Amino acid sequence: MAEKHVYKFGVDENGNNVTEVAGKTVDEAKWITGGKGANLAEMANIGLPVPPGFSITCQTCVAYSSAGNVWPDGVLDEIDEYRKDLEKRMGKKIGDPDDPLLVSVRSGAPFSMPGMMDTVLNLGLNDESVNGLIKQTNNERFAWDSYRRFVQMFSDVVMGVDGQLFEDAINEKKAEKGVKLDTELTADDLKDLTETFKGIFAKNVDSQAHPEVAPDGVAEFPQDPYLQLRLAEQAVFGSWNTERAVLYRKQNKIPDDLGTAVNVQVMVFGNKGNTSATGVAFTRNPADGTNERYGDFLVNAQGEDVVAGIRNTEPIADLPKTPGLEEAGKELYHVFEILEDHYADMMDLEFTIEQGKLWMLQTRVGKRTALSALKVAMQMVDEGRITREQAIMRVAPEQLDQLLHPQFDPKAKFDVVAKGMNASPGAAVGAVVFSSDAAVHYHNIEKPCILVRWETTPDDLKGMVAAEGILTSHGGKTSHAAVIARGMGAPCVCGAEALKIDAKAKECKISGTDVVLHEGDIISINGTTGDIIVGAVPLTRPELTGDLETILEWADDVRHDASRGRLFGVRTNADNPADAQLSVDFGAEGIGLDRTEHMFLGDRKQIIQSFILADNDGQKQQALGQLLQAQTGDFEGMFKAMDGKTVIVRLLDPPLHEFLDDPRDLAVEIARAEGRGETEVQLKAMRDRLARLDSFQEANPMLGLRGCRLGIVYPELNDMQVRAIAGAAAALKKQGFDPKPEIMVPLISTVEELKLVREQIEAGVQAVAEAEGVELNIPVGCMIELPRAAVTADEIGEYADFFSFGTNDLTQTTFGFSRDDVESAFIPQYLAKKILKTNPFETLDKGVAKLVKMGVEGGHKANPTIVCGVCGETGGDPDSIQMYYDLGLDYVSCSPYRVPIARLAAAQAKINSNGGPEKISK
Ligand code: PEP
Ligand code: MG
Repeated sequence: MAEKHVYKFGVDENGNNVTEVAGKTVDEAKWITGGKGANLAEMANIGLPVPPGFSITCQTCVAYSSAGNVWPDGVLDEIDEYRKDLEKRMGKKIGDPDDPLLVSVRSGAPFSMPGMMDTVLNLGLNDESVNGLIKQTNNERFAWDSYRRFVQMFSDVVMGVDGQLFEDAINEKKAEKGVKLDTELTADDLKDLTETFKGIFAKNVDSQAHPEVAPDGVAEFPQDPYLQLRLAEQAVFGSWNTERAVLYRKQNKIPDDLGTAVNVQVMVFGNKGNTSATGVAFTRNPADGTNERYGDFLVNAQGEDVVAGIRNTEPIADLPKTPGLEEAGKELYHVFEILEDHYADMMDLEFTIEQGKLWMLQTRVGKRTALSALKVAMQMVDEGRITREQAIMRVAPEQLDQLLHPQFDPKAKFDVVAKGMNASPGAAVGAVVFSSDAAVHYHNIEKPCILVRWETTPDDLKGMVAAEGILTSHGGKTSHAAVIARGMGAPCVCGAEALKIDAKAKECKISGTDVVLHEGDIISINGTTGDIIVGAVPLTRPELTGDLETILEWADDVRHDASRGRLFGVRTNADNPADAQLSVDFGAEGIGLDRTEHMFLGDRKQIIQSFILADNDGQKQQALGQLLQAQTGDFEGMFKAMDGKTVIVRLLDPPLHEFLDDPRDLAVEIARAEGRGETEVQLKAMRDRLARLDSFQEANPMLGLRGCRLGIVYPELNDMQVRAIAGAAAALKKQGFDPKPEIMVPLISTVEELKLVREQIEAGVQAVAEAEGVELNIPVGCMIELPRAAVTADEIGEYADFFSFGTNDLTQTTFGFSRDDVESAFIPQYLAKKILKTNPFETLDKGVAKLVKMGVEGGHKANPTIVCGVCGETGGDPDSIQMYYDLGLDYVSCSPYRVPIARLAAAQAKINSNGGPEKISK
């Protein structure tokens, strides 16, 4: 069958639903007709009042873009058929001078990208059809207002004319007429403005770049409605690739090759007087999850006015109390219930009331904060709408980060200087900046900042990403700033009207006070309460309680349920008792990696230095004795904090020079000493030390004397560490504790290394067990972090009780990318040029994954009971966690703050790979 490029939705001329769906479910259809198109079709099918229209598919967008903005063969004819069909269904023609059909042209990608792409409203108006609109509506002012809006929007969105030119013209007109508000302009004023706007178009559109609107070589506002339509459709396709859309996708990990659909839909008007309105709403509170109707509306306004935050809106709770809107308000509340029943989720929606009649323009699963996601998921389980497993799938693991993010310290005392709306929870402290560029600059110099704006626009995205928090003086809870901040998990206070911002002067007065904020001044904002404070309020991290604790417990149940697939554990990377305790509080089931070198910092550095640089055996033994004592204490603390839980202790890994002073500093010191005329004896001592330091320098230290090679060259180091581990375990056993250490050998490349080191370890453990009279059973395993180890895992596995994949080194050595250099040197460029899809040090690369697969399979071949886990950075990344489950790992291990995220992601991975979530049986 030939590919279908267009799908219609809504009713025909007889009121029959003629919707064509692009898939069996909305989720399937959204890949074809986009989220908006698929949901419009769905709403039409469940009988909701949707203005009729049609959707051009995302695949058409991809084909059009990849052919260099050329329509695929036959598609324009197909669209024309659907346009004619729509005209027939409506009994009106686009551009008809007597009774014109007006349409909107909107984007709609498979994933929602709020405000990032283009929309054109009132399309079909021209110098003749405007008269038809006057005739039909008997409202000259409305018709001219619609036409001037259309010229303005078309010029800006489709032709890229600077929007400010039109705003300036409106302001000039208002000044000329001595009025303040747009609504005070008369029909004649608006007619004049339309002419002025067409003049702006003619002057600013490049006739050579756009010959289609310059048939005689001079650009002219297009009067042909079908040309208007085609150009608007092309502009929507083009808006998929604008800088801001590309950045938004990168931020939200949305693939670039999906394309957007175009939805052409009959216009309905919220600006036909006081019985008309337009609004956006959520069926529950997207900020904190309260089960209440949430949103804003504007009487006598057109769609974009609400989202743009240009006029102050009314709360949705007042809608049914507003004269002339009572019935439509009640009907809308009923639609909320229908939508929740149908989708079993919290939905957001856009609606318009045209002269008392309600129309649904959009619905989609509502974006929400982590707090709201958790609460709504719990409520929906309680209401019997979804299962626990579905609830687990409803919360994005990365979002939990928001809840683990700072809040104001409850003990802190502060004065609130102004208040706004609590648009996105969490607290932030930073320097005031008034532009996105300034926010990016502050971010680059590592100074936290708060972006303070009258309102944000999609162009502010980069500043919003760079800032710690967002504060606006205008706009409601569904304004651009609020929606985007919630999506990003950034704290946001919006609509703080006391703020009088002069962005040009880089200052902000706060009405009712004598406070004037300048760029760089420190403020604090609380997106949970709407509070604004001058100065820095101390921040704290919250604990795991309430809904978060509940969902993580449900996630653990899934992870531990053998009937639901392989068990999947979550451990942590920790190397001190405080972190160990924190990770237990966060739900870690053991320590997957204790990097013992981290125990050699601070005062200990001196001791390890004297071991490395010792001139004689006596000095060496003394240093080892001190290290043994210190390490035994460390391990006792760790094993106690993790009592009864596995603690994988890794033997020393880094190149030894990392513990030594920088020889360059000593060289400078020697030069100074020479200048001062120090004695030869003193100079010689310094020069000897320099020579010793130099002897530890390596050209490629990460590929040099490190990992298991250290313990082979310096067996006394391994011996000391093994005695400390075994000694601590023996001491705790005697005190009645249940220590469970395991010893891990780093950077193995050949089985012979492990064989040798394992013998050393077993001898050491045996010696301690005998000396202490305690039975010690300490498993021995190794890291798989070199390609040779992965490909010979079937040999190595014979000597390993467990494998832990070190994807930091494995990625480094597989790619030949220096892990310490490339992330700042060229990975960003590789990502921008799409050479890499993701940073392989953050998300497991598929090439590295093949080595992990070989490692797991080889290990099991040699040792069927081998336990396999991962302890590289990718172990805390939700996308990688899915891959690790599928690769057959038994657990992931990550930093303590990522443990809750990993618990949820691990449960989701298991559910995804075992048939999806259980559903309510109906
Ligand atoms: C690894 O290489 O992935 C690993 C966990 O070890 P480290 O980062 O300490 O080299
Ligand atoms: Mg490593």
